[in-house]
Amino acid sequence: MLGIKHNEQEQRSEDTWIGPAPWIQGQLPGPKASALIERDDKLTSPSYTRDYPLAVKRAFGSVIEDLDGNRFLDFAAGIAVCATGHCHPKVVAAIEAQARSLIHICGSDFYYPAMTELVEKLTAMVPGGRPQRVYLTNSGTEAVEAGIKLARYHTRRPWIIAFHGAFHGRTMGALSLTCSKARQRERFGPLIPMVAHVPYGDVQAIESQLFRYQMAPSEVAAVFVEAMQGEGGYVIPDQSFLKDLRALCDKHRILLVCDEIQSGAGRTGKWFAFEHFDIVPDIILMAKGMASGMPLGAVIARDDVMNWPPGAQGSTFGGNPVCCAAATATLKLIEDGYMANAAQLSPKLLAGLSDISAKRKVIARVRGLGLMCAADVISRRTGKGDPKRRERILQAAFQRGLVLLSCGETAIRFCPPLCINEAQLDVGLKLFDEAVATVL
Ligand code: PLP
Repeated sequence: MLGIKHNEQEQRSEDTWIGPAPWIQGQLPGPKASALIERDDKLTSPSYTRDYPLAVKRAFGSVIEDLDGNRFLDFAAGIAVCATGHCHPKVVAAIEAQARSLIHICGSDFYYPAMTELVEKLTAMVPGGRPQRVYLTNSGTEAVEAGIKLARYHTRRPWIIAFHGAFHGRTMGALSLTCSKARQRERFGPLIPMVAHVPYGDVQAIESQLFRYQMAPSEVAAVFVEAMQGEGGYVIPDQSFLKDLRALCDKHRILLVCDEIQSGAGRTGKWFAFEHFDIVPDIILMAKGMASGMPLGAVIARDDVMNWPPGAQGSTFGGNPVCCAAATATLKLIEDGYMANAAQLSPKLLAGLSDISAKRKVIARVRGLGLMCAADVISRRTGKGDPKRRERILQAAFQRGLVLLSCGETAIRFCPPLCINEAQLDVGLKLFDEAVATVL
């Protein structure tokens, strides 16, 4: 048994320490979780994809406690969001202090220090030394929407290029770029016009297909790309892909937009995943991990690119003071240790998964950057992806006290809070191995 008290970096106080994980008493879900799920399922949108019955009472660090007192090790971080772990005392303190003095005033209309402090930090994070500006949103999909609008506004060009497997969100503009699962687009059309997709990693296809048959490069506003694909299956592109894309964009004066909503904020061991590929985009989109779970997103663009006038874009809640305060505290914690922790623990996580893959032939293609790692579940007989077996592994892991999420068609992702420690990684790997052993 293991507790988050073991994490030397965290120095959590005794009164908020909720105990070791895993700690599972009996069959899941327990009676309280079952009762809540029954009430909830009658009234909430059936579009939610709850793969297993986890009903959460509270969570701290990398440990989640359900309504019946069972404790789970969290290898999902609320979909790569809780970068500093759940309820980090410094993030909670920043939220509390801000909520006591100013919850809302509207950053589109007025000034407040929480926003200014955050945008100072965000602009300083961008490599390359060129002046930047920031527009703040409430979510990832809104950051993508604003990114589309900014690209079209700045360039006066209509076309947007994105990639197969991409996930950029679910509002109509962002969904037009999303090309990850047909289900996500089915019956929602018509989507926004003048969006084209090519296979992820294939810069050549832009020139040889799109520019030949579909549009002139002078009509393309931007290419939107995930430096490492997230929902599409944690796909790491070839080392040359982003450099070639950067060169193509430069040649045709097209904006390069990196969607760092899942891969940013230190998750890959650097502020941004594009830093692994030695490029700097014109526009960066952030959300998820940047505010430890408070709803916040950001469009960071070169000063000369973000040239829209007053009134062209705004938001009532975007960048509200409480979320900004949470983000500033989050980014400081990431900078002061959690980003380095992600880089340091990455080889251990990848090696552990590779060992399991070598031992249990149904786990394959282990990959990852930092603490954004994944492996595919395959059929032992055919070697092809096996989504049903993946489903059984997720269930078996849950029953053992390990919270995991899927991505892509057949992958399981491992994206724990960036504050996770070595001992917790070991326990998570052991639980995963046991879960895999049940479906051989
Ligand atoms: N972009 C990427 C790369 C994402 O992973 C996601 C969410 O998973 C989004 C955009 C959409 O973000 P949100 O769910 O906050 O709207």
